[in-house]
Amino acid sequence: MSPRIEAARGVGAAPERVALPEGEFRLIPGRPGVVIGVPHGGFEEFTGLIGERLGRLTGAGAVIATGFAGARTGGVRLNVNRPTEGARLPPGAEPLTARARRVHDAYAALVRRAARGPLALYVELHGYTRRASVVHLEVATAGIGPGLARRLKARYRLARERSLNGRRELPGLDLLIEPVDRVRFRATAARRWPPFREASAVLHIELPPEARLPAAARESSIGLLAELLRVAAAATVGDG
Ligand SMILES: [Zn+2]
Repeated sequence: MSPRIEAARGVGAAPERVALPEGEFRLIPGRPGVVIGVPHGGFEEFTGLIGERLGRLTGAGAVIATGFAGARTGGVRLNVNRPTEGARLPPGAEPLTARARRVHDAYAALVRRAARGPLALYVELHGYTRRASVVHLEVATAGIGPGLARRLKARYRLARERSLNGRRELPGLDLLIEPVDRVRFRATAARRWPPFREASAVLHIELPPEARLPAAARESSIGLLAELLRVAAAATVGDG
């Protein structure tokens, strides 16, 4: 069977649910090689919805976690994208625990399954809450050279201008992307583990509240992120 026909089978197939004691995963099948991961869908508002919509718009597979915090974990956050627990700790101070490892193993295995072969591009979506006078979309990366980063940034800005088009309700945020920009959220802990470590290229996207809480801004963000994902996928996935 040609890869093209197989790819067509993946896109639009029914989501699969995997329930663990501490939370739940949803795998939404897509084309091979590109996977969107949402490890904190249970507590970073609207990241799960944005990831799912992004998958449907671009044909990428998606793995979305919900739960893994609150009553089911004794109030401690499991990090899911790494085998540790606890929030707001320096990367080396996050405790590695048996349950955190079990949850992380399950997540990494689902991302591998969604990739249906080598993971050419892994897009991890997060939402941050830290307040600052200037907010940005921040993208920490791996396997993305300065040329592609500059292209992604230029494409984002073009798409943003198109989507703004006099609409004052949209925040019109700028994008910072490694390696051409310095970002605050560098994914220092997550990048030591799969899926981050296994992917040929990674976009680790942190969305501020302004980009995901108001409905109009959220819709605009989904469109802008889809544009980024398409450019990155075209540059990192072979035609196979
Ligand atoms: Zn997060």
